[in-house]
Amino acid sequence: MAAIPKTLTDEDRLLPLSALQHWLYCPRQSALIHVEQAWAENRFTAEGRVLHEKAHEGPDETRVGVRITRGMAVRSLALGLSGQCDVVEFHPDGSILPVEYKRGKPKAHRADEVQLCAQAICLEEMLGTRIEAGCLYYGERRRRTEVPFDAPLRALVRETAAAVHEMRTNGTTPAADYEPRRCGACSLIDLCQPKALRFRKGAAAWFERQLHALGRGPWAVKPEARGQRPEARGQRAEGRGQRAEGRGQRAEGRGQRAEGRGQRAEVEASVSRSRKLCAITAKPIQKSTIVNPPHSTEAAPLPRLLPRSQAPDLKTEP
Ligand code: SF4
Repeated sequence: MAAIPKTLTDEDRLLPLSALQHWLYCPRQSALIHVEQAWAENRFTAEGRVLHEKAHEGPDETRVGVRITRGMAVRSLALGLSGQCDVVEFHPDGSILPVEYKRGKPKAHRADEVQLCAQAICLEEMLGTRIEAGCLYYGERRRRTEVPFDAPLRALVRETAAAVHEMRTNGTTPAADYEPRRCGACSLIDLCQPKALRFRKGAAAWFERQLHALGRGPWAVKPEARGQRPEARGQRAEGRGQRAEGRGQRAEGRGQRAEGRGQRAEVEASVSRSRKLCAITAKPIQKSTIVNPPHSTEAAPLPRLLPRSQAPDLKTEP
C-alpha cells in the first residue's frame, strides 16, 4: 500500500471524503472529478444531493439524552481527508455514532461503508476517541444498516485514501473501463465517453482487433471449445504413446537384425579359423574335410579336422 505523502496532509491540501467513494465506484470517475474538476448531474446524483440537503437541514437537537449534530465538518490529517458528516449522534454512554444518508439500497461494492468509516476515523482523530460502528440510512429501505468498523474496513479506507492521493499527485486520469451497468448510472458518461475509448489505440491493438474479427487468436476460442481441450490433449498423448510403441518395435527389429549379423560374423570367423588351420597343416581346404559346413545362419560349431590317419588320400582323389 502506498503511503500518504506527508506534504499532502496540510489542511489546505485535504481531499474530499467523497473522493474515496468515487474511486471505489470507478477510478476514472474520481480522477475526472478531483483531478480534472469535471462534473455533471443526472437523476441519481440529484436525488442523492436532495437527500443530503434534507439530512443537513434543521438545527442540532437532543432526543432522549442523545445529542444529534447535523452537517458536522470533519477532517483527518492522517488520511489527508476532509468533509461533512450528515448526522453524528453523541449517546449518554459516551459512544459516538456517525450516520450517512444514501439514496437507493445497499450496494455490492463497499464504497458507502468506506466513506462512513473514513468519517469515523476523522471523528476519532478530532475527538481522541474510538468509534466502533456507524449507520447507513438508505432512502429506498427507509431504515438504518449498522456498519462495524473492523480492521479490514479500516485498512481499505487507508489503502483507498493513499491511492486517491497518488492519483492527484500524478495528475493522471485512468483509461475508461466500460461496464454497462456502472457506466449507465454514471453522471459523467457524456464527458467520459467510455465506449469511444473502449479500444486501445496503436497498430498492435488494431492488429489484435482484426484477428478478433476473423475469429483467430487465443481470445477467439469459444468456451465449449475450451472444454474440449483436455480431451484433445488426451488424444494427442495417446498418439504420442502409439508412436513411442512403434519406435520400440523398430528398435527391437534393429536388435534382431544386429543379432543375425552377429551370428553370421561368428560363422564367417569359424570358417576363417578353419582355413588358417588348414594352412598350418599344409593341406588345402577340402570340402570333405569340413564337417557341418555353415549353410545355415545358425551358429555353427568350428569345423572339425580329421586326424591325418583318417584323412582321405588326396593324391588318390581325381
Ligand atoms: S462512464 Fe464509466 S468509465 Fe466513465 S467515469 Fe463513469 S463509470 Fe467510469
